[in-house]
Amino acid sequence: MSMQRTPARNPLARVFAEHFAEGEVAEVERVAPSMLRIRIASPELDRLSWEPGRHVRVQINDPLSLYGIVRPKETLRTYTVWEFSAEDRAFDVLVHLYAPEGEGGIGLAWARAAEVGDRVVFWGPRGDFAVRPEAGHHLFVGEETATAAFWPMVRALGGGAEVRAVLESADGRDEPPFPEGHSVVRVHRGGAPAASSRTLVDALAGVDLPDAPGAAYVAGEARTCQMVRHHLVSVRGWPREDVRTVPFWTPGKRGLH
Ligand SMILES: Cc1cc2nc3c(=O)[nH]c(=O)nc-3n(C[C@H](O)[C@H](O)[C@H](O)COP(=O)(O)OP(=O)(O)OC[C@H]3O[C@@H](n4cnc5c(N)ncnc54)[C@H](O)[C@@H]3O)c2cc1C
Repeated sequence: MSMQRTPARNPLARVFAEHFAEGEVAEVERVAPSMLRIRIASPELDRLSWEPGRHVRVQINDPLSLYGIVRPKETLRTYTVWEFSAEDRAFDVLVHLYAPEGEGGIGLAWARAAEVGDRVVFWGPRGDFAVRPEAGHHLFVGEETATAAFWPMVRALGGGAEVRAVLESADGRDEPPFPEGHSVVRVHRGGAPAASSRTLVDALAGVDLPDAPGAAYVAGEARTCQMVRHHLVSVRGWPREDVRTVPFWTPGKRGLH
């Protein structure tokens, strides 16, 4: 397949072309029962920069097509870059298969159907979810979708950083990967929803934290993020600015960002 981009003819399409890149699926691997790693290779990575925590928006339907104009919410879906290799001109995303086959949105359908050689158009990398290396210690809290973002952020902090994590998954057979050598509490919600998750907040409440606040990174379902922030600020006394929350999804909303 040719990876050359066709020059855009109309001016609006040319503006959009500055902001997206093309690649193709290079690998697909199940890393946990509900986690799929998809490697996207693109010669255009030479001109793109990346920092741990940034995401891409995968163009599943063209926003400039008639379909995209009529259904703008059914065009782009966001995935954090899990690994980025400038040398291989490739990056990985880790997609949580949150619903059974045939259910869920276009992002889930794209990931389930991904095959080596599929053309992928993506926007980014972009975003401002980033580690604060100057903090005395670091706390990561979230469910499966957040874990995809946490992985590169924890690795960027290096082995000497004091890192704690509270990670939720459906059960013990389906735990998403997290870099080794850190203090990690794993909790399982069973059949309960990941939205407004008391499971996660209750687990956090049981974690011993240093007296001085550090940097907290919280991602996943929007209301769960709010509950975690509320706990850290109101119960543990952390300053709001030390708790970075990034809502990734919430029930009833499609393609949150
Ligand atoms: C900055 C950012 C980074 C992200 N990084 C990742 C990542 O690395 N890996 C990853 O897997 N996801 C990630 N997400 C979340 C992902 O973009 C959403 O889950 C997205 O909604 C999936 O698109 P969809 O088309 O399948 O569902 P949508 O059409 O967007 O949503 C349809 C419905 O499905 C439900 N739903 C959507 N997502 C979930 C979920 N995760 N769990 C349970 N129910 C859900 C909701 O009820 C929603 O109304 C990220 C989101 C953001 C904003």
